[in-house]
Amino acid sequence: MLATGSSLIRLRGVTKVYGQGQAALMALKGVNLDVAAGEFVAVMGPSGSGKSTVMNIIGCLDTPTAGEYLFRGVHVETLSRDQRARLRRRYLGFVFQGFNLLARTSAQENVELPLLYRGESAAARHAAARDALVSVGLGGWEHHTPAELSGGQQQRVAIARAMVTRPAVLLADEPTGNLDTQRSREIMDLLWQLNVEHGITVLMVTHETEMAAYAKRVVRFLDGAVESDAPNPHPAGAA
Ligand code: ADP
Repeated sequence: MLATGSSLIRLRGVTKVYGQGQAALMALKGVNLDVAAGEFVAVMGPSGSGKSTVMNIIGCLDTPTAGEYLFRGVHVETLSRDQRARLRRRYLGFVFQGFNLLARTSAQENVELPLLYRGESAAARHAAARDALVSVGLGGWEHHTPAELSGGQQQRVAIARAMVTRPAVLLADEPTGNLDTQRSREIMDLLWQLNVEHGITVLMVTHETEMAAYAKRVVRFLDGAVESDAPNPHPAGAA
């Protein structure tokens, strides 16, 4: 992993056009953004402003129409689909609003899944998944299926699954969107802890000002461009 303070993510003049001709829609209109290792960034902005599009590009799930995306100095826009997938598996963890867990599968097996894709041994998978579940406060819940867990617990499993590969960056798309306020705060405390104690860089899309207040920096999108980008001198998690 790169040292704190060095450039991890760099977008330069990134545009994204969906569709063609008359129907073409410019979802991103020349985005410049730098995220250093160790940052905790909240991405805000109205619906349709380009947040998901930019997160998909940063997450190597999509490519810009024009412009540059450098991840750890590598030009992602020049990589093949396979190379991007490898980069994604090695460095990025994802958490979504809807948890996206396999329903009839235990918490333990859900968390092991990314390691299975990596071809790790059963013993290594079990140990790493157990550790990850303990680190999100779910020691003892390994054998429960999602239906037997609360929404907050399901999101903890999803975070453990994202963290089990020890990613450099956690990309979270409205991670508290399906949770009540108390559960949302617990999830934010957990993300804060992962950021501060484990040095994970966090990029999180949220609509909620209270949850964005946990971030050390807030980037607002409007109409496909960065409208504002400001540090948060007093993040809520530090209190
Ligand atoms: P946000 O996440 O801020 O709600 P999006 O990045 O999802 O915004 O969308 C930005 C713009 O791009 C919107 O106008 C949206 O309708 C359009 N858009 C997003 N994804 C697609 C797609 N796959 N095909 C066509 N248009 C899209």
